[in-house]
Amino acid sequence: MSKPVHSQGPRSGLDGILCARGTSVADSPTVNPSRTVAELKELRALTADENGAQRVAFTPAWTKAREFLAAKLAGLPLKSHRDAAGNFWATLRGRSTKALLIGGHMDSVPDGGWLDGCLNTLAGVEILRRLAGEYDGCPPVTVRLVDWADEEGARFGKSLFGSSACAGTLDIEEVRPLRDGGGITLPDALQAVGIDFENVKSSGGELADAAAYLELHIEQGPTLLDKGLVLGTVLGTFGVERHAITFHGQAAHSGSTPMNRRHDAFLAAARMAPEIYKIAERHGGVCTIGSCTTLPGIVTSVVAGCRITLDQRHLDAAALRAMLGDAREAASRFAADAGVRVEWGRLMRADPALFHPELLGLCDAATEETCGTSHRMPSGPLHDATEVSRAGIPTAMMFVQSLHGISHNKIEDTKEEHLETAIRAFDRLATKAIAWISQRPMD
Ligand SMILES: [Zn+2]
Repeated sequence: MSKPVHSQGPRSGLDGILCARGTSVADSPTVNPSRTVAELKELRALTADENGAQRVAFTPAWTKAREFLAAKLAGLPLKSHRDAAGNFWATLRGRSTKALLIGGHMDSVPDGGWLDGCLNTLAGVEILRRLAGEYDGCPPVTVRLVDWADEEGARFGKSLFGSSACAGTLDIEEVRPLRDGGGITLPDALQAVGIDFENVKSSGGELADAAAYLELHIEQGPTLLDKGLVLGTVLGTFGVERHAITFHGQAAHSGSTPMNRRHDAFLAAARMAPEIYKIAERHGGVCTIGSCTTLPGIVTSVVAGCRITLDQRHLDAAALRAMLGDAREAASRFAADAGVRVEWGRLMRADPALFHPELLGLCDAATEETCGTSHRMPSGPLHDATEVSRAGIPTAMMFVQSLHGISHNKIEDTKEEHLETAIRAFDRLATKAIAWISQRPMD
C-alpha cells in the first residue's frame, strides 16, 4: 500500500488559506470539456483492465487514481488535504469563506465503468481551472472539490462511507465489524491507508462553511435515453425499505401429500412476485424481490420454509410507507390462504432525500440554457449527495444520459458529445450556485 499523497489537514481545510489573487495559472476562463473526456480516458488507461475499472477504495489502484487527481490539480492555486475519513479536499479560496462544494468519487466497483464517480470529480477539476482563470485565483466564494472515500462500498458492503462519516449519519458500531472477502476488518483496512477508524466522524468539520453542494453523475439507468434527453435535474434520492420475508410451512412428501393438505411456504412466497408489480404500479415506486431460498430445497418435498427479500424505493415517504403496508397486507393474506405463517425482518431503511428547491431551479436553468430543455427525475440509487443533503447542506444533482442504461459494468458508456454537454451545463450550474450563495445571508 503506498503512502497517502496528502497529509491530514486542518479541521475545515480553510484555515490559513488566503485568496491567491495574482498567482493565476494562465488558464482559459472557460471550461474545456474535451480535456475532461481526454482525462477520463487517461484515468481508464491507468486504472482499468480488460474487465473494466478496478479502482476499489483503499486499494493500490484507488491510491493511483487519487495521485492522478492530485497531479491534475497541481499548478492551480489550491490547498489540498485528506480529512479524517479519507475524503480528499481541494480548496480554491474565494473572497468569502462560504463554500460551494463539488463532489465525486474516484473509487469504482470491481470491473466497473469508466464514468461512474470520476466524471463528477474530473468535471469539478475543470470547473476549478475555469474559476481560477476567470477570477485570477480568487472567485467570489470559496470553491472546494471533494473526492469522497469509498462511495461504492464494494469491499465492505457499506456504500457512501466517506460522505456519511462527514455528514454524521454513519453508524460507527454498525460498520465496525465489517470484513472484506479476505477477512480484513474495515478498521484494519483503513489503518493500512493511514485512517483512524475511531476518528472518521471528525471529518464533519469540513462542512462548517458549506453553503451548497453540487454533483454531476451518469444516470446509470435508461430514463433519459428512453426520453431522448441528454441531461436531467435530480429531485432527490429514493427512500428505501429492505426486508427479509420468511414464510414457514411444513415439509411433506411430494408424492403422498394431496394438494389440498399442504402447507406450502413457496406458494405464499411466489404470489408476492406478481403482487409487488401491482404495488409499484399503484404507488409509482419500484419494488424488487432479489433473492429466494427454500428449505429443505429438494425436489421431493413441499417447501417448509421460504425466505424472500423485498427492496422497495420511493421518493415520497408516505408513498413508501403505503407500499410497505400493502406488501405486509398481501403477505399475510397469501400466508393465510396457504396455511403458513409469515415473519418479517427489516434489513435496512433510508428516508428519501429531497434536494434543495432553489438549486433544482438553477439546475433546470443550466440544463435549458445548454440543451434547450430540462427534465426532473428521481434517483433510484443513493449517492454521496444524499448524505450531504441529510447534513442540511442545500444540494443539487445533475444526471447525464447513460447509453444502454447500464452501470457497474465495463459496458457503461455515455456519448462523448453528451459528456461535453454535461460538463458545460454543470459549469453553468456552478456559476449560478456561486451567485446564489453570494446573495444568501449566512445563517
Ligand atoms: Zn457513483
